[in-house]
Amino acid sequence: MELIKEEIDIEFHNIQFYTDSRIVLGYIHNVTRRFYMYVANRVARIRKTTEPSQWHYVCSEQNPADHATRFVAAAHLPLTNWFSGPEFLRECDPIGCSLGESYGLVKAEEDVEIRPQVNTLATNVKEDLLGSSRFERFSSWRSLVRAITTLTHIANSFSQSFPDTLCRKWHLCTKTSGVEISQAKATIVKTVQREVYQEEFESLTKFGKVSQRSTLLRLDPFVDNEGLLRVGGRIHCADISDIEKHPLIIPPNHHVTGLLIQHFHDQVAHQGRHFTEGAIRSAGLWIVSGKRSVSNIIHKCVLCKKLRGKMESQKMSALPSDRVSVDPPFTHTGLDVFGPFTVVTRKTRGHNAENKRWKQEYLSTLQPRRKWTEERESIQEGDIVLLKDGEAKRSEWPIGLIAKTIASSDGKIRKVMVKTAKQGVFREYLRPICDVVLLLSNNRNA
Ligand SMILES: [Zn+2]
Ligand SMILES: [Zn+2]
Repeated sequence: MELIKEEIDIEFHNIQFYTDSRIVLGYIHNVTRRFYMYVANRVARIRKTTEPSQWHYVCSEQNPADHATRFVAAAHLPLTNWFSGPEFLRECDPIGCSLGESYGLVKAEEDVEIRPQVNTLATNVKEDLLGSSRFERFSSWRSLVRAITTLTHIANSFSQSFPDTLCRKWHLCTKTSGVEISQAKATIVKTVQREVYQEEFESLTKFGKVSQRSTLLRLDPFVDNEGLLRVGGRIHCADISDIEKHPLIIPPNHHVTGLLIQHFHDQVAHQGRHFTEGAIRSAGLWIVSGKRSVSNIIHKCVLCKKLRGKMESQKMSALPSDRVSVDPPFTHTGLDVFGPFTVVTRKTRGHNAENKRWKQEYLSTLQPRRKWTEERESIQEGDIVLLKDGEAKRSEWPIGLIAKTIASSDGKIRKVMVKTAKQGVFREYLRPICDVVLLLSNNRNA
């Protein structure tokens, strides 16, 4: 067409193109999809010198070029439109076989020349934070750090300045550096801090200090050059390291806080609160309301319960009615071997006076239940317990499942059916609750 235009001495007012391939028309008109190289280059070439609007469809019967691809006897040739062209060209608005049709891609999903559609979604996350709710999937600090370190490594490998050429963009890899582990830890802490202490960050940026009603006021917090919230103030003590002077502030009641406490509690081999707190402090962390948080976690620690947990107990039953009713003396008597006998003679002299004294002096002494006064949350079916075995060391006691609870007449549970499994053999034991140590409650709140 360019060649013809250049060589011919006729001025063209309008040029129209016709093809009997709807697929090609689809390619030319397409603006949304991308093609593999071969088609892409040809479409680009066509669109460089022509407009898609110049392109039209001609059906095979009307297409003179069709005759060139088939056998036609010379005698028949004049009967075809090989010399005359299609009928519609002689009409005033020759736009082809179809009127006003728009040309979409033909069977785009099956066309191997069309690149599969890849949607790239750009998500704008405020402050590039991950959202700490994702951290709740992790049940240990170690696994959380490992996952975030991998993410950090991948994110780093997208950066141009990343040195290792083998680690480029998305890849499976276990090569992570200590720097990346620290980066990951900082990311986790920062995510949690930004969510919980959003207000504090805002006032620190605006006024350089937190508001009077902030729970962190006493800690005189500041934001370090990594954007992390740390305990401020000056502790004049030569012995402690820099990270201990300005520990990172960790909010109470956060999933990550629980993971951290459990982590350091494991590190001190399940020793008590003071050791756990010490390990947390020397790691440069300041847990707000730390004492309570640490105690809560240790209280729930399954290994600690296994090692040292107390046996279950239940408030003592109320005394039987014959021990607290006001009958004359000897109405109910007991004898080790034969009793009780019911005494027939009812009234005795001085009964009323005796009765009064008895009520005042004796009955009142029975009032405080001296043992196990605390009313405990009953042990429940489905609880996991350690079952005492008088003949074995504690470390060898079996772990069992509460299969059934048996209530006393006051509705309290004092006996349980414990199911254990040893080498694939199930056994059930009926035991008083003081023979079991609760390890994991079926009730999630406990
Ligand atoms: Zn890598
Ligand atoms: Zn423990």
